[in-house]
Amino acid sequence: MSDPAPPTRSSPVAPLIHVQDVTRTYRSGRSDVPALRGVSLRVERGEWVAIVGPSGCGKSTLLNLLSGIDQPDSGSVSVQDRRIDVLSQDALARWRGRAVGIVFQFFQLMPTLTAIENVLLPMDLAGYGTSRRTRALDLLRRVGVADLAHHLPSELSGGEQQRVAIARALANDPPVLLADEPTGNLDRRSGAVVIELLQELWQEGCSIIMVTHDEQVAARAQRVISMQDGSIVGDVIQRERVPIDSMSG
Ligand code: ADP
Repeated sequence: MSDPAPPTRSSPVAPLIHVQDVTRTYRSGRSDVPALRGVSLRVERGEWVAIVGPSGCGKSTLLNLLSGIDQPDSGSVSVQDRRIDVLSQDALARWRGRAVGIVFQFFQLMPTLTAIENVLLPMDLAGYGTSRRTRALDLLRRVGVADLAHHLPSELSGGEQQRVAIARALANDPPVLLADEPTGNLDRRSGAVVIELLQELWQEGCSIIMVTHDEQVAARAQRVISMQDGSIVGDVIQRERVPIDSMSG
């Protein structure tokens, strides 16, 4: 692939994510809604970050800039030393297909595809590797739902659907897993299973950034970034991050 995005920095160990002074304002009718007011953030490989704050403070907007679903009005967003804020929509879509894994609150599985077909889809779209079915099945096994591989989403519980969605997010072996309220639509018990799974993935070397409004969920993360009114107002490391040499990819 040769997207025309210049590297942002030439440091030997670039951060996984580097956000510099981004702003994003939504136009709503005749008024402007500033969602991000100059946010800067560095995330290193192997971190598990929770972004917390009251509803409307800009959490999802920030996550959408990291995943390339949205682009900032000003400032820069780099992922693995690549400026994604300057990519064209086409280049961004191609980049997103292989560089990020996204987990949504409402799972967003394709309803007409089975669990394994949902995991295969991003690999097929990105032309990822060979032995895709074996890899898809391995991923479903990894998240504990291999026996449901041939079930449709409507035949799965919410927690099972979210585990399939996590397997799908990991399909192209992305450098970071982005999750927007991954437990927001689950009961406590299913939510706990999903958070336990995220913790295991993190301990295996997966970098994770998740948005949550649930303090108990945030408490499980390694680092907590607090937002308020479009700005970062707190950044606390709760425990050591996974050492870089234990990373699987
Ligand atoms: P959070 O995820 O913290 O709840 P959001 O990032 O979704 O916050 O929203 C931040 C602000 O931007 C809120 O005031 C919200 O109403 C506004 N906003 C978000 N998306 C849109 C949109 N598509 N159009 C207009 N305003 C929006």
